[in-house]
Formats: sequence, structure tokens, C-alpha cells
Amino acid sequence: MDRREIAALLAYIGRLDPRTIRTDPGEARDQLAQWHELLGDVPMATPHGWDARVAARQHIRTSPYQILPADLARPWGSYRRDRLARHTDPTPSADPDDQAAWTAELVGTRRAVATGTAQPAQARAITTGRDGIDPRLKARLREIGSCIPPAARAALAPYRPARAAREAALARGQPDALSVRCEWCLAQPGEPCRRRRIDPDDGARGTAPCATHPSRCDLAAAQQAQPSEQVQQPAMA
Ligand SMILES: [Zn+2]
Repeated sequence: MDRREIAALLAYIGRLDPRTIRTDPGEARDQLAQWHELLGDVPMATPHGWDARVAARQHIRTSPYQILPADLARPWGSYRRDRLARHTDPTPSADPDDQAAWTAELVGTRRAVATGTAQPAQARAITTGRDGIDPRLKARLREIGSCIPPAARAALAPYRPARAAREAALARGQPDALSVRCEWCLAQPGEPCRRRRIDPDDGARGTAPCATHPSRCDLAAAQQAQPSEQVQQPAMA
């Protein structure tokens, strides 16, 4: 609140509790300076539920003691704490490698929430995205396409040869065998083919990943050749 807002607040308080009125000009000036010094960083009102006049009125309604600046600073503090407690930092839209910008955005969002200019972001809003991910963040995600950055993906390739081979095949425009169900070993789409491990005594004792079965590659190739059949069916139904 600036000096004019403090003066307006004091006038409002004076109407509700005449004991706070200072008739001597010097005293009135001191009172204004004191309140301004103590409440300069407390806003008069925010779009989301804070109003210094409401807090003052509440004090005068419920307390027999004359109102002091602390009686506004305290509710303002708990208003801030309550909002920050309900806030979960949303993912900043800044480049994660740019530490300064990332931190600045986090701090800016928290400050906006604490001072009541923005609503707290709930954890649910992050996971469902129904309230809208920041469009700049959405563009960044689309650009990368994966939570694993391209450089890290390349570095990991030697350690997961099956996935690397699949990605290389996709890049060459070859059919993705893992996109269909394997009719041979019944591996579900996205799962690698498996072979049964046979125990000499009592039959199967589990499965282990193996190379993709040739019939599955053929099926994927056939589906890639006529994808329209697959796509149109649900639309017509
Ligand atoms: Zn298979």
C-alpha cells in the first residue's frame, strides 16, 4: 500500500473505531508514517481473496483492542503461507539448461502466487494438463519429442541394442514390428518377442526376450502396406 492507500485505510478504520482517529495534525502524520513503514509491502487488495479492509473490519468486529499494523500484517502472512502451501511449482517453460532463467521463472511464479496475483497451481494440473500446459513448454516438448534428449539417447544406444535397432529401422522407414501383436509368441504391441525357456523336468519355466519373430515383421509390413483399413475402421463404426 502506498501512502494514499494507507490514508484511505486509516480513514476507513477511523469510521469503524473512532479511538484510532488522530485529531492533531502532527500525530496524524506520525500515524500515517508509522503504518506506511510497517505495511508498505502489504497490498490493499488482490484479485484472489485478500482485502486489507476486510481484515481490518474483522479485527474491529472481534477484538476489544485497538487495531495495530500487526493485526493486518499477521493475516497477510497467513494468507501468503496458505497460498504457497497449496502451490506446486509447475514445470517452467524456460530452457532447463539455462539455470538462471529456470530459477527466475520458478521464483516469479511463486512470488505471483504469494502476493495473490496468480492462483496456486495444484499437482493435479501438472499431471492431467487439463488446465493447459504453458504453450511455450508444449512447443519445447514437441521439439524434443521425448523426455530423453537426443544426445542422451545416442549415448545410451550401445546399452540397449534392441531399442536402437528399432529406432534405426523406423528412421529408415522400415515397418515397426513391435507395433503389432506377435502371432507366434503372443507378445503384445510394444513388447519384445519372447521365447520359452524349457526345463528338462517339467516344461516351461518362464520366458526370455529374443529376436523378433519373422512372422511378426511380415505382419507389420503388411499393415504398413495398407494402413487405411486399420485407420478407417473405427471412424466408420
Ligand atoms: Zn514373437
